[in-house]
Amino acid sequence: MHQEKIETIKSAIVLADAQNQDELEAYRLKFISKKSVVGELFAEIRNIPNEQKKEYGQLVNEVKQLADNKFQELIDKVNAASKKAKSMDLDLTLPATYIPVGGIHPLTATRQRIIEIFERIGFNLSEGPEIEDDWHNFTALNFPENHPAREMQDTFFIEKNPDIALRTHTSSVQVRVMESHKPPIRTLSPGRVYRNEAISARAHCIFHQVEGLYVDENVGFADLKNTLYHFAKEMFGRETKVRFRPSFFPFTEPSAEIDISCLLCGGKGCNVCKGSGWVEIGGSGMVDPNVLENCGIDSKKYTGFAFGMGIERIAMLKYQIKDLRLFTENDVRFLKQFRSIL
Ligand SMILES: [Zn+2]
Repeated sequence: MHQEKIETIKSAIVLADAQNQDELEAYRLKFISKKSVVGELFAEIRNIPNEQKKEYGQLVNEVKQLADNKFQELIDKVNAASKKAKSMDLDLTLPATYIPVGGIHPLTATRQRIIEIFERIGFNLSEGPEIEDDWHNFTALNFPENHPAREMQDTFFIEKNPDIALRTHTSSVQVRVMESHKPPIRTLSPGRVYRNEAISARAHCIFHQVEGLYVDENVGFADLKNTLYHFAKEMFGRETKVRFRPSFFPFTEPSAEIDISCLLCGGKGCNVCKGSGWVEIGGSGMVDPNVLENCGIDSKKYTGFAFGMGIERIAMLKYQIKDLRLFTENDVRFLKQFRSIL
């Protein structure tokens, strides 16, 4: 009789199931708790004749083991199901996670725009090393040793005698191009340059330049002017005026500073242009015959012009940025204002 009852309970345990916490609790009450059917089997032990007690006890323990194992199995099953349900708990009406959108750095955008303008009128791109030797950075460009112009371009030296330094201008790339190419040469060299300067709103020890060089037969100052007029109108707008002021650079003769009419006041005079109506954008001139000869180009046959501009300077004028340091501080509040340019 006990045998039969035990078998019935065993099959009930095997067939038992639970889908949630309530059903789990129902199982516990039915098969695990003191008052459960299994608990009753244990209570029954006192009514069993002594000689059968051992055998009965073994059977009841097996049932208890079976009930416990099944209980653990059901707990695992319900937990796994609830975990899965949680991960599926999507609310499609919630606002989407915000993913910040990046943008082009204003210097990169300015550099790209400058390249575009000159590429359309036949300039190719050239690059060179940022760590330069004395010849390419100074001597070939007519800066003899002890020349005072070297003082204005103090830089960071990596080695002395022979001097190896961080380049002070991208003119060194022009020397490399002239040494390795025969005219006609029409090239644009953008890149990072270095000077030993105190960092302020208007100066930095690292900045970017773009230089242009055109060497061919019969290249004259009129070509230089027309090229830069074209650039200024493309870069700053059709109404922009350009003027050239005589200046001195060791590597050009004659040399001129390039000014454009102030973008803010249109030439009337304001505090950006300090009342003059003009702002400076770079330097230019006809390549000094000595420089051509230093690079192996016949200065009797060929002439050329060169110009150089600071990319930061152009960006500051175009976007009315007042502090040069902002370009390298990586402050997203500054950078995200340029997301829409280019
Ligand atoms: Zn002005």
